[in-house]
Amino acid sequence: MTDPQTLFSDDYAAAADAADPLQRFRAQFHLPRFGEVEQAYFVGNSLGLQPRGARAQVEDVLDKWAMEAVEGHFRGNSQWMTYHRLLSAQLAEIVGAQPEEVVAMNSLTANLHFLMVGFYRPTAERPAILMEAGAFPSDRYALESQVRFHGFDPDTDLIEVQPGADGLFGIDAVAAAIEEHGHRLALVLWPGVQYRTGEAFDLAEITRLGHAAGAVVGFDLAHAAGNLPLQLHDSDADFAVWCHYKYLNSGPGAVAGAFVHARHAITDRPRFAGWWGHDAATRFRMGPDFQPTPGAEGWQLSNPPILGLAPLRASLDLFTEAGMPALRSKSEALTGYLETLIRSQLDDVLDIVTPRDVARRGAQLSLRVRGGREQGRALFECLSDNGVLGDWREPDVIRISPAPLYNTHADVLRFVRTVARWRDA
Ligand SMILES: *Cc1c(COP(=O)(O)O)cnc(C)c1O
Repeated sequence: MTDPQTLFSDDYAAAADAADPLQRFRAQFHLPRFGEVEQAYFVGNSLGLQPRGARAQVEDVLDKWAMEAVEGHFRGNSQWMTYHRLLSAQLAEIVGAQPEEVVAMNSLTANLHFLMVGFYRPTAERPAILMEAGAFPSDRYALESQVRFHGFDPDTDLIEVQPGADGLFGIDAVAAAIEEHGHRLALVLWPGVQYRTGEAFDLAEITRLGHAAGAVVGFDLAHAAGNLPLQLHDSDADFAVWCHYKYLNSGPGAVAGAFVHARHAITDRPRFAGWWGHDAATRFRMGPDFQPTPGAEGWQLSNPPILGLAPLRASLDLFTEAGMPALRSKSEALTGYLETLIRSQLDDVLDIVTPRDVARRGAQLSLRVRGGREQGRALFECLSDNGVLGDWREPDVIRISPAPLYNTHADVLRFVRTVARWRDA
């Protein structure tokens, strides 16, 4: 193990970056400027940076529209009729699914609702949804409104598992809650990575526990997709949803993702149907009766916003080229470097909320400012004033998420130095 003072040096960071097999990818992104230099951008968990290839993909669509108009639907490899399929194989690879199990459509909260139409089927005996307390508000709103929509009472039927005093759940708390409430659960809806703490979960184990209790199991992978290698098919999850604007770098409000397990490819579960979910072979007979396309595509409603899908192609190409295993190794190294430097240099300033166990976290570290909210705000502003971008979560947490496609050891060192200078000032 290299000693902490050696790690806390430009030489070490430069050598680690020079040895990084993924170093070439940073140049594939637009890095926001901070005066003469680039920002140290650690907010890829909120809005990933723009891949340089995104503009060309969007321009291709604009050109095709200009030159071919309606015929753009039917002409060439990137015809709009099947454009979403250009993404499926790469997307499937990233989340560990079969191509028929995934689709890029709608937005995240919309997908959560639409999939719950089929996968949340409460009955008087089994009305409840199990979720984590302190979830991302949109998820809570969605789940609570679904419970109400079906005529049930969120006070009793939206069960929120409380984390421990450290803010973390651990699989044992999830198991205990499923054990306690299992007989009443229609659905377990759990995050892949909790947005506030960065705690990652074993999807296969949660699915096993939920299924054993007789519940459907779905995941919100907003903070997991493109961050952790996932094996969604093998996890046996019934469904999952995620967005593409965080780790997947596809732009603000990018078209989102959805997974429906192959065993539900053909299903008589109810769904809210639209023509783009109709069997592609007969869609244009324009018949009155809905025949769903097997698999995730059958859950589509509208013909997709092609301009919105275009940046995804640029981003997915980078993920395909780098590969999730290599991205994960670099991510472990970068986040591990951040963790080691915080523990050795900044232990009096920052308390790491995120689990220490690498298997229980992704790229993000959530850092509680020991001095409390006022101090935290001052530190956060000092970081921004120095071109070091993290994000703030009330009351006293700064989230720092090194993204392995574009962050470097030098970025991490710059964060640690900026905090140390603020403390010593
Ligand atoms: C980012 C995020 C959202 C945002 O929802 P949109 O529908 O994309 O606006 C919802 N849930 C979680 C867990 C998130 O991390």
